[in-house]
Amino acid sequence: MDTHVDTQTASETGLPFYLPQGNETELFEHAYRNRLPVLIKGPTGCGKTRFINHMAARLGRPLYTVACHDDLTAADLVGRYLIGDSGTYWNDGPLTRAVREGAICYLDEVVEARKDTTVVLHPLTDDRRILPLERTGETLHAPPEFMLVVSYNPGYQNLLKGMKPSTRQRFVAMSFDFPQPKVEVEILCRETGIETALAERLVALAGGLRALKDHDLEEAASTRLLVYAATLIRSGFAPRDACRAALVEPLTDDAETGAALLEVIDASFGG
Ligand code: ADP
Repeated sequence: MDTHVDTQTASETGLPFYLPQGNETELFEHAYRNRLPVLIKGPTGCGKTRFINHMAARLGRPLYTVACHDDLTAADLVGRYLIGDSGTYWNDGPLTRAVREGAICYLDEVVEARKDTTVVLHPLTDDRRILPLERTGETLHAPPEFMLVVSYNPGYQNLLKGMKPSTRQRFVAMSFDFPQPKVEVEILCRETGIETALAERLVALAGGLRALKDHDLEEAASTRLLVYAATLIRSGFAPRDACRAALVEPLTDDAETGAALLEVIDASFGG
């Protein structure tokens, strides 16, 4: 009995910490078991990457994460011929490696990538689940354990880019947002070791700052930034200065907006 309990505890604590906001872990597991690709939408710093890391560990699959950017091409995902000492050789890209190994491939901010990447993703996202490697002439059939996960931030900078409906329709999709206050308080405590009362003040402050979002800021104070503020305070830095460094400066370059944010901070942490 004892051994059993010990083993369970060890494996549970071995997972990257993730506190669910709803039924997302269950949905993800069902998608995985049924070989469905997943699309995660949500603002930056709200837990998408942590969630994927947690789920990959929980499902016991290796994880390949690709941070997409506007120069990312299909060849960056699939692979290319390289020149070595003994001539040219084929080098698998992360998507190809994930397919071969039956891993989870996570394409973060997928709408940033070049259009030609959708061509390689499409046959992997329907029931063919194949990856044709045009350059080598191979066609890889994805094993049941392979899973494709993509994310994007539907915030303002992607309004024009968006994701094509024909691509979106190939995924099971879930929306992430900043966690409910109670959940966010627990995340701050667990991530940084601060006291509950302080976490509650920070989360209430975030609520105030997020309410300003639509007026002056492109992006709201994220859970990630709250974790940074809590970390600085935990290490002994003055709360107001910590909040300024973590919750004002990263969010705006505009002096007036910065002053408005600082006012909200002063109302909770004194000026
Ligand atoms: P995203 O990928 O959405 O930009 P991350 O997953 O990197 O955001 O989250 C940023 C940080 O916020 C994480 O490193 C973690 O400290 C914290 N975090 C956010 N949501 C959660 C959650 N539900 N459980 C645990 N930590 C979280």
